[in-house]
Amino acid sequence: MRPELLNPLFRPITSLGGVGPKVALALRRLIGGAEADEPPRVVDLLFHLPAALIDRRNQPGIALAPEGAIVTLKVRVDRYQKPPRGNRRVPYRIYCHDETGEIALTFFHANDAWLEKQLPVGETRYVSGRVEWFNGKPTMVHPDHIVEEADFSSLPLIEPVYPMTAGLARKSLARIVGEAVESVPALPEWLDRKFVAKHSWPDFLSALTQTHNPSGPGDLDPASQHLSRLAYDELLASQLALAVLRLHHRKSAGKSRPGSGELKAKILAALPFSLTASQRQALDEIEADLASSERMLRLLQGDVGSGKTVVALLAAATAIEAGAQAALMAPTELLVRQHASTIAPIAEAVGLRVAVLTGREKGREREAILSSLADGTIDLLLGTHALFQGSVSFRDLALVVVDEQHRFGVHQRLALTSKGSASDVLVMTATPIPRTLVLTYYGDMDVSRLSEKPAGRRPIETRAVPLDRLSEVVERIRAAIDSGAKGYWVCPLVEESELLDVAAAEERYNALGEALGPVVGLIHGRMKAPERDRAMENFRAGATKVLVATTVIEVGVDVGDATIMVIEHAERFGLAQLHQLRGRVGRSDRPSVCLLLYKGPLGPVARDRLSIMRETEDGFRIAEEDLRLRGGGEILGTRQSGMPGFRIARPEIHGALMEAARDDARFFVETDAELAGERGRALRLLLYLFGRDEAIKLLRAG
Ligand code: ADP
Ligand code: MG
Repeated sequence: MRPELLNPLFRPITSLGGVGPKVALALRRLIGGAEADEPPRVVDLLFHLPAALIDRRNQPGIALAPEGAIVTLKVRVDRYQKPPRGNRRVPYRIYCHDETGEIALTFFHANDAWLEKQLPVGETRYVSGRVEWFNGKPTMVHPDHIVEEADFSSLPLIEPVYPMTAGLARKSLARIVGEAVESVPALPEWLDRKFVAKHSWPDFLSALTQTHNPSGPGDLDPASQHLSRLAYDELLASQLALAVLRLHHRKSAGKSRPGSGELKAKILAALPFSLTASQRQALDEIEADLASSERMLRLLQGDVGSGKTVVALLAAATAIEAGAQAALMAPTELLVRQHASTIAPIAEAVGLRVAVLTGREKGREREAILSSLADGTIDLLLGTHALFQGSVSFRDLALVVVDEQHRFGVHQRLALTSKGSASDVLVMTATPIPRTLVLTYYGDMDVSRLSEKPAGRRPIETRAVPLDRLSEVVERIRAAIDSGAKGYWVCPLVEESELLDVAAAEERYNALGEALGPVVGLIHGRMKAPERDRAMENFRAGATKVLVATTVIEVGVDVGDATIMVIEHAERFGLAQLHQLRGRVGRSDRPSVCLLLYKGPLGPVARDRLSIMRETEDGFRIAEEDLRLRGGGEILGTRQSGMPGFRIARPEIHGALMEAARDDARFFVETDAELAGERGRALRLLLYLFGRDEAIKLLRAG
């Protein structure tokens, strides 16, 4: 049970002042939330960090206010110049002065009564906002703040600016976050006191308060003491959850399941290729784990296209030879179907019984699958994670493979490991994360790496092309599809709105359709699953030759004969994402091209990214470069600058803390495995605050 102390933080944000359903929806887009379709909770706001500051300390006087600068002025209100009746386009002007000069405060669509209350003639007010000069006369359009002389202290001289989304006003977001921070109760210290003292860190609440009430630019520095403290808290929560998971996993003894090799031999014979050396080695490692009586917890890391699915299938075969069952879980329905279509023909050839279970299997069909799982008629189950929860039970689940692609979810892994009490777990990731980050995301797992691409692959010709040469690109595509090629056209990510993503994709789809004829398909995240499958199928079968897509295709789509990848506004994508996208082509023995369409002028980081993409296809190198570039000072607070799944900790800045957190967590779990002592109970609070409390369920399960 969640400690009552934390209840105020787990209320929905709609319980905060001024947060109605509309604002809640906007906030959900911005910061996400625990459950689908539910408003975020107060706690979700705490770690939405300011990305910049507005400094209102400058009080130069009217005449000396620089053009375009934010200033605070102490003015006397002189007279009103109302717009002529019925003409809404003329603004309302209120003239004020100080000892240096006169300024017009300008309001569009203003409400008389409100203005007269805020700015009564003859009175003195502090106004703060941006000053602009027209024809030698200063004006301030819609001051951000208007306060009475006596209330000067209520004027925020330094104001945090949060990453924004449509439908939210800057001021109300700051106020809502402020209220969220104020509802944090006093909490016991969960960090080791000596460690805190050594770093001169503030306590959690002070750190949070300082983060959201910065007193200068230095307070936004991720290496500052309060942000380091919060980063450490976040890292520790994650490491602790992983340490508990690992302990729990190891505690229940595994079963030794050496395979006979029979099924595996049949599959190898049925495959149209032979395994690469690193596939063989990974498989050896996995088989050794399966044969051992310790439970396996292994990470299979391999770049896109490195052939992880086959390794998973062969690992499953070993478990099945031993008379048990295996399950393969993928993050999306699309990927489950895709695994199914790859695996089905091989399974059929070798007599392996495979079933698919996602949200779409319902009623009778679902019942039938569930009973065949329970009686062991099904050898291998493919599904999304939702279906491994609740009613699904296996006769003897020996191996669970989690295909994470690049979504990191300790949650899913935790839910799964409790399904088969002795099952071995293989987590596959297509993200070639640098070694230091493996630790952060996976804790102490054993790691196998697929370091080479299957033989016969040709390098991908990668070129950066300015967007104003779009029509040439379209001509090139036309020529390519005339000669039998097909490819993807990925549309830009619009940070704040999925709807805008879709609109951009639809527009491109229409334009390309006009230019190329009825060979253009469209796929995006707002389509219903069957519609999306159909778009995918049409493309796979060749009914469409160009598939316009939003980044949904980033997640592991595999159409072997696609050889063209166009990425529009490539400058808006991160390196990892570009690499993932490019990995969708170059999967056959035909030459592939990747065109990075960019809109100039490029900033230095974007230019570096594009040139790294041209230089190399090595995912591990790209990952290291990505880390280096991020260290090069991109703005704080944008999604891509952090590690997915982490909101405060940044690898390039808090690298040393990461290892400390790992050691701290591991040591602590060894000494107080139930988190029952004084520090243990405080650490439970930490797990809840950072959404890693699934680990606590495992503690209870014992
Ligand atoms: P990923 O690691 O991205 O999941 P996949 O498992 O989807 O990669 O494999 C990509 C493609 O490579 C698939 O079409 C698969 O059949 C093929 N493949 C896998 N292993 C080999 C191999 N050793 N030789 C040739 N092709 C292979
Ligand atoms: Mg895959």
